[in-house]
Amino acid sequence: MSKSTSYDVIIAGGGMIGTSLALALAPLGLRVAVVEAVARAESAQPSFDDRSTALSRSTQRMFEAMGLWPDIVAASTPIRHIHVSDQGRFGFSHIDAEEQNVEALGYVVINRVLGSVLQTALDDCETVDVLCPARIRDIELGETRATAFVETDAGDSMTLDAHLLVAADGARSSIRDKMGITAEQVRYGQHAVIGNLETEKPIDGVAYERFTEHGPLAMLPMTGGRTAFVLTVSEADAERVMALDDSAFLAELQAAFGYRLGELSRVGKRAAYPLVLSKAMRLTASRSVLVGNSAHGLHPVAAQGFNLGMRDVAALCDCIADALAAGPESIGNPDVLDHYAEWRRSDQKKLVGFTDGLVKLFGSSRGVTRALRNAGMLAFDLVPGVRGEFARHTMGLAGRLPRLSRGVPLA
Ligand SMILES: Cc1cc2nc3c(=O)[nH]c(=O)nc-3n(C[C@H](O)[C@H](O)[C@H](O)COP(=O)(O)OP(=O)(O)OC[C@H]3O[C@@H](n4cnc5c(N)ncnc54)[C@H](O)[C@@H]3O)c2cc1C
Repeated sequence: MSKSTSYDVIIAGGGMIGTSLALALAPLGLRVAVVEAVARAESAQPSFDDRSTALSRSTQRMFEAMGLWPDIVAASTPIRHIHVSDQGRFGFSHIDAEEQNVEALGYVVINRVLGSVLQTALDDCETVDVLCPARIRDIELGETRATAFVETDAGDSMTLDAHLLVAADGARSSIRDKMGITAEQVRYGQHAVIGNLETEKPIDGVAYERFTEHGPLAMLPMTGGRTAFVLTVSEADAERVMALDDSAFLAELQAAFGYRLGELSRVGKRAAYPLVLSKAMRLTASRSVLVGNSAHGLHPVAAQGFNLGMRDVAALCDCIADALAAGPESIGNPDVLDHYAEWRRSDQKKLVGFTDGLVKLFGSSRGVTRALRNAGMLAFDLVPGVRGEFARHTMGLAGRLPRLSRGVPLA
């Protein structure tokens, strides 16, 4: 017979966003279950893997408010300068931390390392049960409760029910489908090849974004003086690039990036990710909501996907904290969920449009687009306010901010 347990909140997916949400909710004293399909130690863990993530200022403030920042910053590298260039053009644009009156524009952390900090913190949360490895196979959404049917890897079945079910199960969310929400998915026809390497000249707190004819190439400072790279290649070329030996791969990367950091060497293990834009048509169904990549999957060109998802987490936590005044059962009420969806609409729309626009603008070699792009780069550098506005968006500080994004603890 299947075991049955009641919670206030069930979180489907214990990746970067689901785990962060569980930790953010902890001060509210709600009973939370996190169901995660892949064991944390496994190399196949799809969220806490070898990628590096650039954390924005608003994400930093959230982790500060959650008391986790000292552990995260100790394992991160600050970005003090962003350098944007276009291959084949002489000019470049830049954003500077000092000019923006901040200590750093963001911090780079390896996903696996961030995962270890978050999961260790979760182990100490008495109000959170982590069911892992276990998968939500099906759900039922009623007017007052959401029910999740869970199967563990050991073959046990469990039934969980709660006032609210949160889908944090990634861009190919099966929970979103079961909520009856469709998502628009557009393949970019590109793969991101990631890894890390050594540079002859120190990268010294600079994040480089270079637009090449194949797509954007990012170089990010990381711990140990190494540099993380995200190289975009066409879908047709991905297999060839992954099969190159290290020296042939470094030669191609060097040709795309140039010699700003001197000679590139000692490249580590590479991994490739197909790039897809995904946009959910709605954010809520009865007693359930979408957060993170289940709501929006972005091209990594502007390093914004996780940061945008963290702002979903902050807004949802605000809505839940306010609704709690009327009792825990009210946290999944339609008006609370509508408020969350309304609040998140504009930020999500802007970021999806911004990253998609960047990919298209810089991905084209057509004369008109190139001219526009050059004018855009000029405006970016010369028109007062444009750079500041862009920096505020990439730091996640634009628009009405929820408590956690302002660094204010929930309780
Ligand atoms: C190359 C690359 C570089 C990136 N760099 C950045 C960056 O610098 N900055 C940034 O902000 N963002 C970046 N991103 C985006 C960022 O990685 C994602 O936005 C983030 O991982 C989304 O987290 P998530 O928890 O929503 O989804 P996921 O990471 O996809 O996690 C979903 C979790 O749900 C689990 N799951 C799935 N189905 C079920 C189920 N039925 N039951 C139980 N569990 C389930 C999965 O096992 C997984 O652990 C990058 C992305 C890529 C591809």
